[in-house]
Amino acid sequence: MEVTPNHTQTVTGWAAMNESGKIEPFIFKRRETGVDDVVIKVQYCGMCHTDLHFIQNDWGITMYPVVPGHEITGVVTKVGTNVSGFKVGDRVGVGCIYASCLDCEHCRRSEENYCDKVTLTYNGIFWDGSVTYGGYSNMIVAHKRFVVRIPDNLPLDAAAPLLCAGITVYSPMKQHGMLKSGGSLGVVGLGGLGHVAVKFGKAFGLKVTVISTSPAKEREARERLKADDFIVSTNQKQMQAMTRSLDYIIDTVSAKHSLGPILELLKVNGKLVLVAAPDQPVELPSFPLIFGKRTVSGSMTGGMKETQEMMDLCGEHNITCDIELVSTDRINEALARLARNDVRYRFVINIAGNSKL
Ligand code: NAP
Ligand code: ZN
Repeated sequence: MEVTPNHTQTVTGWAAMNESGKIEPFIFKRRETGVDDVVIKVQYCGMCHTDLHFIQNDWGITMYPVVPGHEITGVVTKVGTNVSGFKVGDRVGVGCIYASCLDCEHCRRSEENYCDKVTLTYNGIFWDGSVTYGGYSNMIVAHKRFVVRIPDNLPLDAAAPLLCAGITVYSPMKQHGMLKSGGSLGVVGLGGLGHVAVKFGKAFGLKVTVISTSPAKEREARERLKADDFIVSTNQKQMQAMTRSLDYIIDTVSAKHSLGPILELLKVNGKLVLVAAPDQPVELPSFPLIFGKRTVSGSMTGGMKETQEMMDLCGEHNITCDIELVSTDRINEALARLARNDVRYRFVINIAGNSKL
C-alpha cells in the first residue's frame, strides 16, 4: 500500500478488501496530528446501510480496501495547537463529513455536506490526496470543524448512530418545517434512519405513521417508539385507508421501490423526502405527483452546525438510538443480518471493547 509521507500513525481497522463483502482486520496509517486536528480514540461505530452499499460496491464507486463507518464516537486523546474548542478527554463524534473546501457559499453557511469538494469520512479523497478510512478502526484524526460534541447525558454507544441516521432525518425535517407540532409524518422503512425519524417526529409533536414491509415490527413501533399508526405497504386496504392523510413522508427504503403508492398517502401539496439511496433508480410515476401537486425532494446528511444542533437537542430530549452492540469479531455476522433486514434498529460496533457502557 502506498503511504502518503506524513501518514505515520498506525491504526488497527477493519476493511473490506474486495467485492466479496467480507470484513477483515486491516492495519493502516493515519496522518500526523495537524495544528487544527483532533485525535479521537474510537469507542463505538454504528453500522449504517451505506456501509453495506459501499462494502458490496452497490453503487460502483468503492475504492478497496474500504474501511467503513461514519457513526463514530469516542474520546479526544490529543489536539493540535490551533484547537481551542476540544480538549483531551472530551466525548466527541465524527459523522459522514470528513472535510470540505471551507470557502464556498455552502461551507460559509455550514452546509459543508453540499460543498462540491465534500470529502466523505470513508471512500473519499482528502486534501492531501489520500483515501479516507472510516470508523471501523481504533483511532481517527479529524479536522476540528468536523468534530461534534456529545452531550454528557447521552451514552456514546446509543448516541453514535445520531451522527448519520440522526442528522440525515433531522436536516430535512428542519428544512421542511417538521420541527413544529401538529403535522402528520409518514416514515417509510423502519430501520436505522426510520426509527430515529419516528423518535424525532414524536419529540416534535407530529402524528407519526410507520409504513413498513415488516408486520412483525408493528408492536414495537407502537409500544417502544410510540408511533401513532403502523401500516404494511403491501396491504392495499391499509394503504388505501391512508390516502391523502399525510403532510410529510420520509423515505428510508434501501432497496429499489416505487414512490407511486407512497405518494398517494400525501395530502395535496404534501412533501416526500427521499433520503434512501438504493442502487437502482426508484420509480416515480407522474400521476400521483401531478394529481396531488406533491413534491419529491432529496437530502444528504447535514451540515456541521446543524449536526451539533441535532446532537444538543437529543441531549435535551434524551433521545438515543435503539442499538444492538456487536464485538469486532462479529462485524460480518452483523452485516449479513443488516442485509436481510434483521436488526432493531442499528448495530453499533464496540470498537474499544468496553465491557461497561
Ligand atoms: P436499514 O437500517 O437497513 O433500514 C432500511 C429499511 O428499509 C429496512 O429496515 C426495511 O424497513 C426497509 N427495506 C429494506 N429492504 C427493503 C425492500 N427490499 N423492500 C422494501 N423495504 C425494504 O438502512 P438505513 O441505515 O436506515 O439506510 C437506509 C437507506 O438510506 C440506505 O439506502 C442508505 O444508504 C441511505 N442513507 C442515506 C443517507 C443520506 O445522507 N441521504 C444517510 C444514511 C443512509 P421495513 O422492514 O420497515 O420495511
Ligand atoms: Zn450512514
